[in-house]
Amino acid sequence: MSSVLIVGCGVFGLSTALELSRNGYKVTAIDRYPVPSPWSAACDYNKIIRTEYNEICYTKMSVEALEMWRNDPLYKDVYNECGRVLITPPSAAKRNEFELQSIECLKSIGQGQKIELFKGSKVLGEKFKELEFNSIEDDILIKFNPEGGLGHAANSLKAVFNECLTNGVNFRFGSSGSAVEIKVIDGVEYVITEDGSKYTADKIIISSGASTGKLLDLKTQQSATGLFVSHIRLTQDEFERYKDMPIVFDSVRGYFFPPDPETNIIKIALPGSGASNLKDGVSLPRYKLQNPADTMPKDCVKTVKTLLSKYVPDLAYHKLFNHKACWVADTADSHFIIDKVPYYSKVYVASGDSGHGFKLLPNIGKYIRQRLEETLSSELSTYWRWRDDAKAFDASECDWRVVTENLDFSQIDWLVDENPKL
Ligand SMILES: Cc1cc2nc3c(=O)[nH]c(=O)nc-3n(C[C@H](O)[C@H](O)[C@H](O)COP(=O)(O)OP(=O)(O)OC[C@H]3O[C@@H](n4cnc5c(N)ncnc54)[C@H](O)[C@@H]3O)c2cc1C
Repeated sequence: MSSVLIVGCGVFGLSTALELSRNGYKVTAIDRYPVPSPWSAACDYNKIIRTEYNEICYTKMSVEALEMWRNDPLYKDVYNECGRVLITPPSAAKRNEFELQSIECLKSIGQGQKIELFKGSKVLGEKFKELEFNSIEDDILIKFNPEGGLGHAANSLKAVFNECLTNGVNFRFGSSGSAVEIKVIDGVEYVITEDGSKYTADKIIISSGASTGKLLDLKTQQSATGLFVSHIRLTQDEFERYKDMPIVFDSVRGYFFPPDPETNIIKIALPGSGASNLKDGVSLPRYKLQNPADTMPKDCVKTVKTLLSKYVPDLAYHKLFNHKACWVADTADSHFIIDKVPYYSKVYVASGDSGHGFKLLPNIGKYIRQRLEETLSSELSTYWRWRDDAKAFDASECDWRVVTENLDFSQIDWLVDENPKL
């Protein structure tokens, strides 16, 4: 039986652990924290499950994942097909093009038949009673896709983790799961953890998300970006009113989700490019757990209030709390990096999520297994290849995220979170 060691139990790591354990591999998976790790970009209330991509390979992959979110019993309690309303002003030209191409991609494979296009605040309010007081400009084309919705993010990770346990995956967390380096001893590659443990296997996968660059020299291939989120907590009456709303995604002002049924909390994601944390030209994460004062820039309060006022003005009075940066691994072209590391004999990388990997929790592991077994399609092998000469990530060149400014953590005037737990 072939053995695999996985370093990092976020979306890519857990999906791979499950896939490999179902296919006869002996799997050991380690992480700094138990699942869901607070360092994981997916340690969160919810994430969008969408199928709109302007590249057909991701369209197909996300359609495949959506079917699994809908039909695999593993995900039945963690998926909500609430749909998504998408609002992008004509001024965001690249983003608009991305959205129209994405619809074409879906249609080209016989999908996306239920997408509706319409204009005007009145129509929006009529379609969704929760948005009846919106004040969206009348010239903006609104897109609604009822197919797709949200994954209860942290709970999804837990569901996959439990299934991995059932399938015999061996997990290690804490100091014996926290990788500090990859070392070659007597010609054998080992992952060394904080407590000095040494792990090896026939194949080793580094899937530590935005922190992957701490273990592997990725050069210019990947850059950690902190994307900011904040929260409000609804009263029970408000929860009842908003619980069946769609995700509201305004490409310029930010987006928010229906309230979480366990906590009545609405997660609000700030728009734009987030922020880097550059040191010696490389951006690596600075996690809130270790730096509690890293909340969000002060001016984000105004941005969030403007967003809420535009769509759900009756909720804009709420106090914001638990603001944080959530770290993704950006690449210049938003393609993942799933390949063998050329300067090792059995170490692979599965990272470069570029902020769109969560939806693929049900199936990204299949493609990572195909890469290990050298059966991955040539198209995906090319997109996801190791590239020593990769262009460095530049947020302003990203066509699907609307960028307002390029911030770095060193420049941020942090908001003081008076009541992080509210
Ligand atoms: C604000 C925000 C919104 C997002 N929205 C969406 C969305 O709507 N839809 C979508 O599809 N995607 C979304 N994403 C992206 C998605 O969350 C990521 O693509 C996905 O989590 C990446 O998975 P990963 O396994 O590469 O990394 P992660 O999920 O971040 O996991 C990395 C793991 O590695 C572990 N680790 C790190 N360093 C070490 C170490 N040294 N030793 C051991 N373990 C280590 C961490 O503890 C963590 O568990 C969003 C991300 C953010 C931040």
